[in-house]
Amino acid sequence: MLMPEPDARVLGRRGELAAALRVIVGEAAVLADEDSRRPYESDGLTAYRQLPMLVVLPSTTAQVSAILTTCAAFGAKVVPRGAGTSLSGGALPLADGVLLGMARFNRILEVDYANRCAVVQPGVTNANISTAVHGRGFYYAPDPSSQVACTIGGNVAENAGGVHCLKYGLTTNNVLGVEAVLMNGEVIRLGGRHLDAAGYDLLGVLTGSEGLLAVVTEVTVRILRKPETARASLVGFATVAAAGQCVARIIGAGIIPGGMELMDRPAIHAAEAFTRAGYPLDAEAILIVELDGPAVEAEELTARVGAIARSCGATSIRVSANDAERLKFWAGRKAAFPAVGRLAPDYYCMDGTIPRGQISHVLGRIGELSQHYGLQVANVFHAGDGNLHPLVLYDANQPGQLERAEEFGADILRLCVAVGGVLTGEHGVGVEKRDLMGEMFTEVDLAVQQRVKCAFDPEGALNPGKVFPVLHRCAELGRVHVHGGAQRFPDLPRF
Ligand SMILES: Cc1cc2nc3c(=O)[nH]c(=O)nc-3n(C[C@H](O)[C@H](O)[C@H](O)COP(=O)(O)OP(=O)(O)OC[C@H]3O[C@@H](n4cnc5c(N)ncnc54)[C@H](O)[C@@H]3O)c2cc1C
Repeated sequence: MLMPEPDARVLGRRGELAAALRVIVGEAAVLADEDSRRPYESDGLTAYRQLPMLVVLPSTTAQVSAILTTCAAFGAKVVPRGAGTSLSGGALPLADGVLLGMARFNRILEVDYANRCAVVQPGVTNANISTAVHGRGFYYAPDPSSQVACTIGGNVAENAGGVHCLKYGLTTNNVLGVEAVLMNGEVIRLGGRHLDAAGYDLLGVLTGSEGLLAVVTEVTVRILRKPETARASLVGFATVAAAGQCVARIIGAGIIPGGMELMDRPAIHAAEAFTRAGYPLDAEAILIVELDGPAVEAEELTARVGAIARSCGATSIRVSANDAERLKFWAGRKAAFPAVGRLAPDYYCMDGTIPRGQISHVLGRIGELSQHYGLQVANVFHAGDGNLHPLVLYDANQPGQLERAEEFGADILRLCVAVGGVLTGEHGVGVEKRDLMGEMFTEVDLAVQQRVKCAFDPEGALNPGKVFPVLHRCAELGRVHVHGGAQRFPDLPRF
């Protein structure tokens, strides 16, 4: 794994920079000693760690603006961080960089039921938005499995998805506006409470920009009325291929479930041992298919899904009799990642998206790769979106296993691209998939993307080392085939 070379001049002025930041946020909100910085050394991609030079914890937009201009004046890089649950290393610190922790931005500023939106600070957790509007029968639709911990700022940065995104869209479809601060300290507002905005879709550009363009300081999210009914079917299959085929047939029949998730045998057993969700342990794969809407519609579609599942050879079908049972079906799925974490000392979670018709083929090939690399894999994923999450199990203490897991993961992502898919569905590129960007994009594509970065952050100071395999100097990007002035990244220690 590769990261930018630390800048000795910036490291040499660390004390001076800390003093300047303390003037902005106060003594207690700048963490300089090693013990205080240690909790920030990694995000959810724990294979990579780096102690940040300094951690700063602002609580107002004005402070963020002053911090960014101060860092720019010192030539210091900045890595924004929400809850640190990124699985692609997006919040991995830099040795010569300031880690900008946004956890203190934790207030829900306003709920506007008339306009069906909520204005929240970026450090509010995803689940807390739904909790805040639950009493009035509303919710925030995108629901990453990490929703009790991850923040809406991190969700915007990663364009996060979740179980219900098949029908209700990803973060980008549920964010109406943001306030954000550029690296030069300028504060911008994109979108608002209205449904459309004039000019370029900069809100769309910022959503999914992985902390490379601006620091988000306020988010206006769409809130939805809770559906009248939701019924979940738990369907068992004798083969993963049959489950994959069933997904394609349900979508092909014109049915868009509220959620449709697939788990294979290792994931089923891990989740069942962890949550006692009532999963069929004799199945090679299960699908959880949730139909929501008016009761009569949910009833009718549940029956149609059942018929399609039987035609695909389903070995068992259970339809939730009440909401408690429906939530029990989901509890296993939502806890699947930590549950799989009990099968091996470490796991490496991949995130590629493929055309739904390719699910059976790709899962079969992942099984072959698992044998080739001698590493077990558990699959639990957003099948309706074709968004795979193979969890490659390994033991970092065994020499060579991390490297094998990385190669296995890279082969899975190459496979996704080869069948017409993409490198990431919702976890972002970060450092994890950065060096695979060339599998998907030409040099021209990458140069165009980097010109967008240059428009927001010409010095390349915001979260460098992520997303782009090579950073060109902005001034030289006019010519695409530039190799002089490009920054390649040296090795980062692995753990
Ligand atoms: C068990 C588990 C399950 C998960 N399940 C899902 C899932 O179902 N769907 C899904 O999409 N993801 C999932 N994730 C991944 C992760 O939770 C998401 O990517 C989430 O959006 C990260 O939010 P965070 O607050 O933790 O951000 P962080 O990890 O702190 O940061 C992520 C990125 O956002 C940037 N960032 C954070 N805050 C800001 C800000 N205010 N302004 C600008 N940039 C910012 C960071 O620089 C970084 O690049 C899962 C993770 C775990 C550990």
